[in-house]
Amino acid sequence: MEAITKFAADRMLARVARWLRMLGADTIFDESIDGATMLRTARTEGRIMLTRDKRLKTAPDALFLNSNNFREQLRQILSHYPFDVLQNAFSRCSRCNTPLIGVDREVIRLRVPPFVYASNEKFSECPNCAHVYWRGTHPERIIREVRNIGLDGIWSTKG
Ligand SMILES: [Zn+2]
Repeated sequence: MEAITKFAADRMLARVARWLRMLGADTIFDESIDGATMLRTARTEGRIMLTRDKRLKTAPDALFLNSNNFREQLRQILSHYPFDVLQNAFSRCSRCNTPLIGVDREVIRLRVPPFVYASNEKFSECPNCAHVYWRGTHPERIIREVRNIGLDGIWSTKG
């Protein structure tokens, strides 16, 4: 599989950071970390810094986001660093950025609502924060959002 660009989002970008994780991109974000510290971490770890800080407009390893709107931000990020979202969505925890692992549905039976258990075959769990994910409703919502944003043209549509 083609490597996806790794990102570091500044503290103003909580929403788009969560979306990038949902789409499968390794994205670090921490509200308690200031921009300068995040930029150092980004450079150490070979990540593209996503920022609203105008001072970073010309930095080669940062992408200055023009809009405050997360859809516009997502569009700008993915037109610069495209990857196959349909292939990669839901491989990573949107809360803590950890890669998810598949989990047997019997194991999580008591941890999800009965209707969710009954209507889904595949479940994943975050080995770090223990949040459980299932493939019922979220992927459809994501794909709808991706189409709303008008990004499906630049992504491959396999899968
Ligand atoms: Zn997690």
